[in-house]
Amino acid sequence: MTNSELRIKRALELAQDTKVFEMGEGYLSRVPAVFEQLFPGRMALVVADVNTWRVAGAEVYAWLQDDGIETGVFLIPDREFHAEWKYVEMVEAAVKGSGAVAVAVGSGVINDLCKLSSAHLGQSYICVPTAASVDGYSSFGASISYEGVKQTFDCPAPVAIVADISVIADAPKEMTAAGYADLAAKIPAGAEWMIADLFGTEPIIPEAWHVLQDVLDEMLSDPEGVAAGKPEAIAALFEGLTLSGFAMQAARSSRPASCTDHLFSHYLDMTHHQFRGKLQSHGFQVAVGTLTMCAFFDAFCKLDLTQLDVDACVAAWPTLEQEQARALKVFEGFVDPKLGYNVITQKYQGAEDVRRELEAVKARWPELRDAYRAQVYPFAKMQRLFEIVGAPSDPSHIGVTRAQLKAMVPKTQLMRWRINLLDLAKRARIYDELVEAVFGPGGAWDLSEEQEF
Ligand SMILES: [Zn+2]
Repeated sequence: MTNSELRIKRALELAQDTKVFEMGEGYLSRVPAVFEQLFPGRMALVVADVNTWRVAGAEVYAWLQDDGIETGVFLIPDREFHAEWKYVEMVEAAVKGSGAVAVAVGSGVINDLCKLSSAHLGQSYICVPTAASVDGYSSFGASISYEGVKQTFDCPAPVAIVADISVIADAPKEMTAAGYADLAAKIPAGAEWMIADLFGTEPIIPEAWHVLQDVLDEMLSDPEGVAAGKPEAIAALFEGLTLSGFAMQAARSSRPASCTDHLFSHYLDMTHHQFRGKLQSHGFQVAVGTLTMCAFFDAFCKLDLTQLDVDACVAAWPTLEQEQARALKVFEGFVDPKLGYNVITQKYQGAEDVRRELEAVKARWPELRDAYRAQVYPFAKMQRLFEIVGAPSDPSHIGVTRAQLKAMVPKTQLMRWRINLLDLAKRARIYDELVEAVFGPGGAWDLSEEQEF
């Protein structure tokens, strides 16, 4: 067994939903054997769109038929489509009508449509990815717009993933770059999990941590190869994205894979942000969030928190009512004006918890700072990796100004119940200082050096 096969074997033992993950060049031909093993006697329905039918769907269909498996096809009728509810209904009707098992041939959107519609029908499906664009293939939950708001619906991950690296390496370069950024997000997200672990709100789950974090540096180490579509580099990237989904399956939470880095993307989704008339990909939006969090950690690790005045911080700690009022102000005029209010109501902690958390930060600061530094890449390094791979290295690349990005920061603190770096900063009264270090003179996103687009 190769290292990769060994890692995958161990990871599959952790994954709760996925039983089979096969990855290699020319692997479309493996689909019938996997289908037969998991769904003997059932009919297959290849679900694809016009593009993915051309690059892989037709071949998967032919392999299934050659193998004597009764096979149908459902093509998404529109050329341009997003993960919207009406498509879930379409796919669900097609799968139900045929009595078949879906074989999702496509990128993240097709996979999410099959994931949710199959769950509605109480069955699983096989995922045949065509791009290393997101970590969502192997995660549970589908991200779908419902009544104009992007939501994550609970549903199991696919029972099998058959990844043909030749197909994935041929995907449009910006899709692969997006996947690279989605994987890179796990770097700062890991550090924010360390903070939640320190505070005791979400302890690190060792197996979910190690399956991904132990190999992350290696999987991100060849941006040139990824940009050039080198099969080994693409395979490493795809494996990293898949392991990230398995880590989420093991933790039964998205904590191993995302934190504030992703909230910038959620904010842009919720405000229907477009650049040059187009919605920006998940990975491209996450790239900007990831860089921003690397910059925040750079600034954070420069501080000396051994001198923290815990008594003063606790004395200044606002009440729940004050925080709720602040949250309402922060989200005034937003599509979901009560979002922050609801989140802070859920995650607010009283003064004694804050005292305990800050005492821990203060007492262990040199050791914690070294651990965060060891975990998070410096902003300059992450930016360079994104430049090489072709992912956004500045918010202007997705049509966001630095001023707009700065305005998102207070919202990202209050968009999710989980503890993040900004929560720590609020408690320690270093929030304004960090924001200034990132967006002020000489900062990573120095507002006076706004890039044109
Ligand atoms: Zn993601």
